[in-house]
Amino acid sequence: YAPLAEVDPVVQNIIDKETWRQYSGLELIASENLTSRAVMEANGSMLTNKYSEGLPNARYYGGNEWIDELEQLCRKRALEAFHLDPAKWGVNVQPYSGSTANFAALTALLQPQDRLMGLGLPDGGHLTHGYYTAKKKMTASSIYFQSFPYALDPSTQLIDYAGLASQARIFKPRLIICGASAYPRDWDYAALRKTADEHSAYLMADIAHTSGIVAAQELADPFQYCDVVTTTTHKTLRGPRAGLIFFRKDGENHKDLEKRVNDAVFPACQGGPHNNTIAGIATALHQASQPTWKAYAQQVVKNARTLASELIAHGYKLQTGGTDNHLVLWDLRPIGLTGSKVEKIGDLLGITINKNAVSGDASAQVPGGIRLGTAALTSRDMTEEDVKHVADFLHRSVQLALLLQKEAGSKMLKDFVRVATTPQDGKVGHHQVRTLKSEV
Ligand code: PLP
Repeated sequence: YAPLAEVDPVVQNIIDKETWRQYSGLELIASENLTSRAVMEANGSMLTNKYSEGLPNARYYGGNEWIDELEQLCRKRALEAFHLDPAKWGVNVQPYSGSTANFAALTALLQPQDRLMGLGLPDGGHLTHGYYTAKKKMTASSIYFQSFPYALDPSTQLIDYAGLASQARIFKPRLIICGASAYPRDWDYAALRKTADEHSAYLMADIAHTSGIVAAQELADPFQYCDVVTTTTHKTLRGPRAGLIFFRKDGENHKDLEKRVNDAVFPACQGGPHNNTIAGIATALHQASQPTWKAYAQQVVKNARTLASELIAHGYKLQTGGTDNHLVLWDLRPIGLTGSKVEKIGDLLGITINKNAVSGDASAQVPGGIRLGTAALTSRDMTEEDVKHVADFLHRSVQLALLLQKEAGSKMLKDFVRVATTPQDGKVGHHQVRTLKSEV
């Protein structure tokens, strides 16, 4: 029962370095958050030792008395956190991640090679919503199903609901997926339901990014219109890394959906549930059901809006010109920088961001934008005043990248990144960054 630092100082050291990176830097990755100590304790508990294939009171292993209690508690809290009536909705809390939750949901709703439509990846959709390229079907959602992407309206950069409706009349999907990884605006679920109903198709929302804000009722309610709702638990919801699948139980269309979803998770796609993670989800859902949660979600959105307006005030262009949620998509093309250059400069300066495609990018391989999110900063109690400083840091990072590019051509920028990211004595050479900066 010796502690990690004694048993494996090498791994302990890596954890310490990553902990320091998270504490000392600014975390702006829109899909990340800083979960609570309580969630981490649950996640790192003895529950990791237990096998419990099956469902509460119907397991393939003995010794599941407490695990059954835990999974039932987690399900109850999931329904409560999203304000759902247990007579109308059920939930499976076993998916290991958002991707497995989505594939299990597709397995439950469709037959192999059935047709689905999801928002295209270059327009902000997720890989698991049917993504493929001209060269390759590289995701299970396009290998095992026939998929066709819908898109943004290039003039507004909002979902082209009318375009989706007319494409659906040709493609005739069995399932329409809404939800995204990089879409800063809210969704018109009623319009999507109307299109789905024209084709007797299912409507599924993947609210992985926004679920913490949806739980706080600060965004439109997908449960009012969808048959199935999936989410990850580790983004705005602030839980451990996992997924949830909510399914409707009422009405003729949903008669056996509960069994289909549960069977799709296990045994179709997964084995034994990760009970330590389920404990972490239960704790996160408990936190998301407290009165303070609404204030957290509101602050996440206020911070994102402030970030957007500050960047605009600095003269930058944002996709859709702003945000309704936690996410800002920054279009760098007008200033002649790529997303990857700015991502790298950010890494050197302790600002964690990620390159992202923006609407109209010529090549998906060279994304012209940066995706920013405010969930993690808000978990550190940052408010609008702090975010103004963050926007200023971002502005200065981009100006530095521009300066390097202008003064010495992109080779200088490459050298800057290469030299500064080459570890010396196990440390990234920040002194080298300083030297290079002063040379410029
Ligand atoms: N769905 C959406 C919309 C996402 O953005 C993501 C991940 O970023 C996922 C699903 C997949 O989640 P995971 O990484 O847990 O598999």
